[in-house]
Amino acid sequence: MSVHEKFGFSTRAIHSDDNNAKNVLSDIAPPLHVSSTYKYPVSFNYDIGVRKGVFSDPDELRKHIIGLDINSEVDTADSHVYSRYSTDTRDRLETVLGSLEGGHATTYSSGLAAIAAAFEFYQPTRLILPHAGYFGTHSVASIFRRSRPRIQILILEDFLETNTDFGASDLVWLEMPQNPNGEIYDIRAFRERCKNGAVLVVDATFSPPPLLYSLELGANCVMHSSTKFLGGHSDLLGGVLVVKDFETAQKLRQDRNFLGSVMGNMEAWLLLRSLSTFIRSLEVRATRQSESATTIATWLASPPQTSEDVKPTEHAFLVCNRLRLFKNATSLGGVESLIDWRRAFDDKISGGVCRVSIGLENVEDLKADLRKAFSEVKDALESDSEKKTDVE
Ligand SMILES: *Cc1c(COP(=O)(O)O)cnc(C)c1O
Repeated sequence: MSVHEKFGFSTRAIHSDDNNAKNVLSDIAPPLHVSSTYKYPVSFNYDIGVRKGVFSDPDELRKHIIGLDINSEVDTADSHVYSRYSTDTRDRLETVLGSLEGGHATTYSSGLAAIAAAFEFYQPTRLILPHAGYFGTHSVASIFRRSRPRIQILILEDFLETNTDFGASDLVWLEMPQNPNGEIYDIRAFRERCKNGAVLVVDATFSPPPLLYSLELGANCVMHSSTKFLGGHSDLLGGVLVVKDFETAQKLRQDRNFLGSVMGNMEAWLLLRSLSTFIRSLEVRATRQSESATTIATWLASPPQTSEDVKPTEHAFLVCNRLRLFKNATSLGGVESLIDWRRAFDDKISGGVCRVSIGLENVEDLKADLRKAFSEVKDALESDSEKKTDVE
């Protein structure tokens, strides 16, 4: 069986949390619970007291609590205590996310919080990161190294030439596709090279399911910034780690209980809606956005759009500011198209690069917007150089 369970992707996006809803109001849409704390069923503390052996006569004591418990219908093993540990909204979200990736999901307050949680959990002695890739991943790695001066941070590209296996305490980090130029890696080949116990993590922020199923291809863990495609509406910050087995997910959740990097209920609720509502469902969005992106990339690659003597940095910078439909903002994967001059954030990136995220607008409108900006910028830069020639 390929992707887990008996239902198709869209059905799972909408229904895989049906059974873990403690839904006393029969809501069809998931409710948003904002409580940070929950009333204990009386038996909750009683059971703990019995387990710890602190009551001198537990049976006698039990008689005094019968009938006190107005929550007695709540299954104590399943009830919430405090929202850093669990909340209904977040639990439902994790059920859906896990089902979409074919594993068990743990959510975090941001993508970077998820990356930090992965480093903390796997505790590698060598961390192998792409030279390029998302700049924040490198910053998290530097912070992680502060308290572990002996950890080695190595460059993934240096391992591409050789075919050697990774070591048992290595963590290999792939970004798929990779910032800013979109390189992709053969996850299966890396799986093979990790057979001695190295951990393979894929940052699949740019390629959510159903575009890529990293766990199926052999990743130990998939990471997403759910701020991007999974959220898709540019209105929430969040991160996710998905692993194949439940026990590992439980350990990640236990770490998170005390690292405190939990996703807020409002964000969890928004993300749940982003994954399941129909028109804006992840499957519809991701498929359509990737088709439009292919159309635009093919169009841009065909005849050269720019003259030979453009100054790429100035050109790229100006184009970002001359578009009407594309907003000049960072982030990606939302329903609105965005364009970002990445040189501002990352010194490794050439000044001539604009990162573009294609949204759900009509693709011909997007092309027209780009065409107009290219020609305005070309005119502006050419009139500058004419002025200069006049002066000379
Ligand atoms: C945005 C991004 C992150 C960081 O996620 P935040 O939610 O902003 O913390 C990590 N990896 C990639 C590829 C990203 O695009």
